[in-house]
Amino acid sequence: MSPKRPIISFQEVTFRYDRDDPVPALESFSVDIDKGSFVAVIGSNGSGKSTFAKLSNGISLPDSGKVFVDGLDTSDENNDIAVRRKIGLVFQDPDNQIVSSIVEDDVAFGPENLGLPIEEIRERVDYALKAVGMYDLRFKEPSMLSGGQKQRIAIAGMIAMRPDCLVLDEPTAMLDPKGRKEVLQTLTELNRGGMTVVLITHFMQEACLADRVIVINNARIVSDGSPETIFSDRDSL
Ligand code: ADP
Ligand code: MG
Repeated sequence: MSPKRPIISFQEVTFRYDRDDPVPALESFSVDIDKGSFVAVIGSNGSGKSTFAKLSNGISLPDSGKVFVDGLDTSDENNDIAVRRKIGLVFQDPDNQIVSSIVEDDVAFGPENLGLPIEEIRERVDYALKAVGMYDLRFKEPSMLSGGQKQRIAIAGMIAMRPDCLVLDEPTAMLDPKGRKEVLQTLTELNRGGMTVVLITHFMQEACLADRVIVINNARIVSDGSPETIFSDRDSL
């Protein structure tokens, strides 16, 4: 049997924001993210975490090396649309990710842009809202919601696009403890349902929920293992 193809594969990736930068934002960066896994990515400010997120769905492309999404080379422009649909990116600030004045319209925004039939949009929106526990609030104005609720709406908007994998770049950084808990619980449930989750975070308690922790430092992976191994290895932190 052939081995299962990773959903995200970085192969010796080097990336600079500016051609003249002496130090790359990612350097000789190689990693495979398995389908169905829950991976936490941690590392100090400026270590390259957000750069990793942007390369994982083709927003940025490697200078050298390759990024594959479900076997598709992100540098091949014929793969652009497929790559972006397979990897849903969620960012730190929920307010920047909300575009509509009614919760369910916001979640419908992506599927509407795909030009899907109305019944399918309805079905996807309801499914996504239920998956993040926001179905009962579907007629609310997003501006009336808490940070944690807004971030769950942003996640629902991604789920409605039926991605294979969610990559979340510090999605709880701006939330209060209650909001953080809601988002983490949502991610854990989505992962149990089969969604691959890559959670970039600076909270160790959050990283412990993952089944694998990757530590980035100075543009490179310095540790990679179970939370138990990583957090007992003081040197890597
Ligand atoms: P992290 O998310 O871990 O804080 P980043 O991936 O944002 O790290 O940044 C990695 C490196 O790339 C840092 O040195 C940072 O200063 C640099 N960098 C990030 N974004 C940009 C940008 N838009 N333009 C130039 N340099 C950037
Ligand atoms: Mg960052």
